[in-house]
Amino acid sequence: MLNIVLFGPPGAGKGTQSERIIEKYGLVHLSTGDVFRANIKGETELGILAKSYIDAGKLVPDEVTINMLRSEVLKNEAAKGFIFDGFPRTNNQAAALDNFLIELNTSIKVMLALEVEENELKTRLAKRSEISGRADDANPEVIANRIHVYNSETAPVKEFYQEQNKFVSIDGIGSIDEITNRLFSVIDNF
Ligand code: AMP
Repeated sequence: MLNIVLFGPPGAGKGTQSERIIEKYGLVHLSTGDVFRANIKGETELGILAKSYIDAGKLVPDEVTINMLRSEVLKNEAAKGFIFDGFPRTNNQAAALDNFLIELNTSIKVMLALEVEENELKTRLAKRSEISGRADDANPEVIANRIHVYNSETAPVKEFYQEQNKFVSIDGIGSIDEITNRLFSVIDNF
């Protein structure tokens, strides 16, 4: 299996680049944000719980997120591999991911971290809100909170993968094609 963590702050381009990567390598795309949004739309118990956190720009609690991710992985046991987009966002989630990939006799190959500076993220998210219809993209206070949560709780997850020699930083500024080519080149040569 080829398992990749696509990492980066909100607005770094994880969703866009994930689409390119799954197309080329035939991977299953697992975006925890997308799964939460589908549950909110379907008014499931999980969706109702997740909504209050998402609307405030906070992380959904680890236990809930880890259980959900685990069941999505197990639904796709025959996959060629996974691209994890928006997960793990805490060190607890990273450790849980390693553990259940062991159950499947596999592991993470590499974490690709898209680096984009804060002002550019704010501009991109404001632009995205016009087409995404996402309430959490439209409110500057919620955006600021998401970036704050990224810096305090999520950015440290880089070290988890650095310690395993699986961390690669990617310049997230440039055209979509340029960034895709940077990602492909690391995946092919790592
Ligand atoms: P995203 O689509 O990745 O920007 O995620 C949207 C929102 O979903 C985040 O701001 C969090 O509230 C929630 N979320 C997504 N992934 C996770 C995760 N791995 N852990 C906790 N909360 C998450």
